[in-house]
Parts: sequence; C-alpha cells; structure tokens
Amino acid sequence: MSVILSIEGLVKTFGGLIATDHVSLEVREGEIHALIGPNGAGKSTLINQLCGELVSDAGTIHLAGKEISGLKVPDRVALGLGRTFQITSLLDEMTVLENVGMAIQVREGHNFRILDLVSRRRTIWQEAEQRIADSGLSTRAGIRVADLSHGEKKQLELLVALAMKPRLLLLDEPMAGLGHVESQAMIGMLRETRKTAAMLLVEHDMEAVFALADRISVLVYGRVIASGTVDEIRNNPAVREAYLGA
Ligand code: ADP
Ligand code: MG
Repeated sequence: MSVILSIEGLVKTFGGLIATDHVSLEVREGEIHALIGPNGAGKSTLINQLCGELVSDAGTIHLAGKEISGLKVPDRVALGLGRTFQITSLLDEMTVLENVGMAIQVREGHNFRILDLVSRRRTIWQEAEQRIADSGLSTRAGIRVADLSHGEKKQLELLVALAMKPRLLLLDEPMAGLGHVESQAMIGMLRETRKTAAMLLVEHDMEAVFALADRISVLVYGRVIASGTVDEIRNNPAVREAYLGA
C-alpha cells in the first residue's frame, strides 16, 4: 500500500524541553493511523509541526511523496493536508450551513465576502447542504454554532475540515469531552471519512482507537516507542507498562 504521509526524524524543542524527539512514522493511503501516549508526550506538538503551525528544529515531512517541511500552512492545505483542533475553531455567530459553505469557498479560492457569480454560489450552498445532510448534523443546518452542543461542534469541525477535501486528515482528540452517544456518532463519521481521506488520529479514548485504527504508534516523552497493528500494540509489554497501565 502506498504511503501518503512520511515523517522522518522530526524534532521540536521548547527551550530545554524536547517535545518531539526524532519522530519517524508513516501513514498509508486509506488507513487510520492512531497516535497515542500520555499527556505531554508531544502529540499536539507533532500535529502542529505537520500542519506547519510550528516550525520544526529538524526532520522532514513528505505528503504523497512531496516534501512539505518548509511550506506554510495554506500551501500544505492546498496539497491535501487537513486538520481539526483540540479546541474548536468555528465561527460562533454563523450557522452550521454558513460554516461549511465558507470552508468550501476557501477550498474554491473565493473570498467569503466578495461573491461574484450567483450560479457559483448556488453550487457551493448545494454542496454544503449535501455534506450536512449526509452527516449526523442533518437537522442542524440553520442553527448558530453558539447554540450547538459540544459534541455537535466537534462533528461540525470535522465537516468543515472535510469540506476542504483533504487527502490526509490530522485529528487532535476528536472524542474529547463527548458522551457515549456522541462518541458513537463521531466514530461513524470517521469510518465514513476513511473512504476519502487517510487519517492521523490523536486520541485518548482507547475504545475509539481500537474500534477505528488500522495501525497505532505510541509516543512517550517525544519518542515513538512502538508502531504496529492494534493487536501488536495491545500485546506489546513496553506499551502496556508505559501507557495502557496493565
Ligand atoms: P500532548 O499533546 O501529547 O499532551 P504536547 O505536544 O501538548 O503534548 O506537549 C508536549 C510537551 O511540550 C509538554 O511538556 C508541553 O508542556 C510542552 N509544550 C507544548 N507546547 C509548548 C509551547 N508552545 N511552549 C513551551 N512548551 C510547550
Ligand atoms: Mg494534546
């Protein structure tokens, strides 16, 4: 299977602290690759290095064979990188439909305020409506973000990321703060997402990780201590000791 994301020797230091310490891993086309590890292990730092919000001290990143290590965030997005945030980044006073519509316009290279062609605009709103109808938010299109539940915001954030049509999606704790029903809805959305995008999934909810992941990498103190299939990671004594607590 071909590789969509290849990371080699990635390093990020904050003063004297090594947050990511020569991280190397590969995400294959079509897979959900989970990244697990204790708090402070460097997971969010790695996600921020991958999307270009943090400048790395060393190492290389290739997306679909192309080196993106030196590129700015929008250039990485244009090449097919998508992400969601640990804390949501939606426009609170706008509706679900407007948030998705805006993401589509950004993808199409439009300025949100200067919409020239009405026909063009119609296809954008139609696509936004379709994306919402196909999601767990089908009854919420006209609701302001501020009036959504936390779980609905997380779902919308995924929809907004998907509207950019990423080839690889970086997810930082999509299950955080979700109740059981909301978690199940999110798991369903991520299974659906797998049909169009590979994912690097940072997640603490091990039930979700075991339900979704094709492979897992374990990060401890900035280092990948193990990478493998779900069964390999579950049965790895070093992982059990360092992270799974058994
Ligand atoms: P995780 O997401 O695995 O919980 P983080 O990547 O957030 O871990 O953090 C890794 C380490 O880097 C932690 O020790 C954290 O305190 C530190 N760190 C993260 N971001 C910064 C920053 N902007 N400035 C200084 N230290 C940071
Ligand atoms: Mg984090």
